[in-house]
Amino acid sequence: MQPVMQQIFDRIAGADTIMIFRHKRIDGDCVGASKGMKGLIRLTWPEKKVYIIDDEKSEYLSFLGKDDEEVAEDVYRSALGIVIDVGNRERISNQKYALCPALIKIDHHIERDPYGHINWVEDGRSSACEMIAAFYEAFRDRLVIDAHTACCIYAGMVTDSGRFQYEGVTGDTMRLAGLMLDQGVDTEKLYAHLYLRSFDQLKFKAQIYENMQLTENGVAWVHVTRRMQQHFHLDLETASTAISSLSDIKGVLCWLAFIDTGTEEIRVRLRSRFAAINGIAEKYRGGGHACASGATVYTLEERDALIRDADAYIGEYKRTHEGWL
Ligand code: AMP
Repeated sequence: MQPVMQQIFDRIAGADTIMIFRHKRIDGDCVGASKGMKGLIRLTWPEKKVYIIDDEKSEYLSFLGKDDEEVAEDVYRSALGIVIDVGNRERISNQKYALCPALIKIDHHIERDPYGHINWVEDGRSSACEMIAAFYEAFRDRLVIDAHTACCIYAGMVTDSGRFQYEGVTGDTMRLAGLMLDQGVDTEKLYAHLYLRSFDQLKFKAQIYENMQLTENGVAWVHVTRRMQQHFHLDLETASTAISSLSDIKGVLCWLAFIDTGTEEIRVRLRSRFAAINGIAEKYRGGGHACASGATVYTLEERDALIRDADAYIGEYKRTHEGWL
């Protein structure tokens, strides 16, 4: 066990009030990890106050349970803050995290901003939920878990690893996933919540395949416009799932989705196999993992510049590497 895990355990054990924070544009991993950590704390120390306060809601993750109501700023000022799955402080969804006098960072993104007083960062982990599962495993003689808490943690492990297929999945991932399943997770129900699609969503998927573009060196991309979103009655979260439709094209090592947000920001989702693309994301106000990053552009010119950068990079990668598919 890493000494930092012991430090985190001791800080949690010694705190009366704990506030858990996560990233903007919530996903299965940050929701599962925050609720998983909250569950472990509440079950182990019922007398402690634990809050997750976040304006963002996710329809498809609502089955994992509600967040807490806003509290007075004094509560933040006396709480231990735990920020999970957030690489840099600007991306913390509830910026009142800064009121907490002590902060713990638990994250699996490439380290760029060690903003915690205690930082436990492992960028080799396939999900932040895997770290929460590892935390449970390390202290399982002292921590209490139940089926719902295990389900939250397992849900994040499944979603962030693309059902255990992405780089970063190790034997340890599978052993920890097994440990969560052992707590009685109802996987049939979980997968139904995560993966059933509405009729409109499938029609939207067909539209993505219709509209996708390919650059010279094999970068696939699609732009999900406001018009498309309105036509298929999509919220931003569902519109953003367009990226996953482009993931399995032979010879395409990098794929991009540009999603209109209704503000001047165009959300960019970048994915790749074999070649790391986080450097491109960082050039366009983003970051993330080697093969799964996010960024923001503001104009179509900037979108096209990003596509050209990705194309040149993938072209160079293909010329200088063998064995890619
Ligand atoms: P997404 O496409 O939004 O799911 O992002 C993929 C990964 O990159 C996630 O782990 C995000 O946390 C991370 N990410 C997304 N956008 C940004 C950003 N602007 N800055 C840093 N990391 C990001």
